Amino acid sequence: MKPVALLLLVCGCKGQEPDTGPASPTETGPSSETEPPETEPPPSGFTSCDGVVALSVCPSDALVVDGAGGVTIFDVPLTWTWSPACFQSVAAPIYVQVPPDATSVTVTTDAGVSPVDMDVLRDGAVLLENTEGTYVATPAATAAWPKSVDEPVSGCWAVFPRTNSLEPETTPGRVDLYVRHGDAVGGSVRVVPVLVDDAPITDEQAAAVIATAQARFTRGGVTVVVEPAERLTFQPGPVDLFGDAYRLRMAWTDPNATGGIPVFFIESFDASSIIGLAGGIPGAPRPGTATSGVIAAVAPIVDGGDLDLARLGMLTAHELGHQLGLYHTTEAAGGHDTLDDTPECPPSADADENGELQLDECLKFDGPNVMFWQSSAEVDQSVVTDDQLWIVARSAAVQP
Ligand SMILES: [Zn+2]
Repeated sequence: MKPVALLLLVCGCKGQEPDTGPASPTETGPSSETEPPETEPPPSGFTSCDGVVALSVCPSDALVVDGAGGVTIFDVPLTWTWSPACFQSVAAPIYVQVPPDATSVTVTTDAGVSPVDMDVLRDGAVLLENTEGTYVATPAATAAWPKSVDEPVSGCWAVFPRTNSLEPETTPGRVDLYVRHGDAVGGSVRVVPVLVDDAPITDEQAAAVIATAQARFTRGGVTVVVEPAERLTFQPGPVDLFGDAYRLRMAWTDPNATGGIPVFFIESFDASSIIGLAGGIPGAPRPGTATSGVIAAVAPIVDGGDLDLARLGMLTAHELGHQLGLYHTTEAAGGHDTLDDTPECPPSADADENGELQLDECLKFDGPNVMFWQSSAEVDQSVVTDDQLWIVARSAAVQP
């Protein structure tokens, strides 16, 4: 078993934090049931769908990050209540005071395979309002900040968790909050090849595939480590993208406690054109959730009886980039990531005017970048910029 350099704080409910004493004398007396005490933090301009006004300064019972640098993890169980106003199940907001030396904040709202939503605020400013619109609300939805170099992350964070079931949610919920702080930038990205059922790939080939990502992302304080391959018995037949894929990731719970990101090698998806699938941008850092890990289909990459390791490696590196928090440098319709040093393929590059910025049209720009939206066997997409690596180094999945 490898040591995992994580500081794990388990907080069953708000109010379990050590009491550091009243912030002001007025908090020592009984407070009115109907009126907030005068020291109540100021409200922000945000009201959740069930009418809860967010605070812009953390309340005295907020979670507090303390101790030396590292990754502090808060694991907060949720109690769901059906809200007719939201037409969703909601849980009470969670506040965490993130210190000035913090380098990233990652939030997962998890209710098994149930799709979830959340609003996330920092110092009362809305950073994420409802995961729908950014990506279709998924199970184990995860979001991380900073999204661009030098975006600040210290301050009072608030998370409003919800689920998207059309009936009252019965699956237990939780929010995982990861705060990197101190000088904990960079470290090891442990990647665990997980060979599923009869996927036609050997341990050595799986390691060779992940070595491509190792070559892309090992730089400037980040080291990608390939763990020994593991095996998982899941199910016969193709994996469907929006059901099996979630259950597959939940089926592997890191038995050797590597703290690593699993790459599941399967035979195929039910959609034959899909080869690689990340859990999210980023995926949930904790193993065993519906978005923990990358899935790679092996059979579509077999060419003339031989597995095209280079191509599968390139695709897997791209998906690991998503899993670690990287967006596409350019989207098909022209959107871009928020990083300054990634080239942008401009609308004028759309030579055939079909409304898509295709790889062959963007070769002079970001086509060769690992995170361009489209790939091809003929193009080497090995470029990773300093800003992309800056984001990766702050991923909650990187072990200090
Ligand atoms: Zn992608």
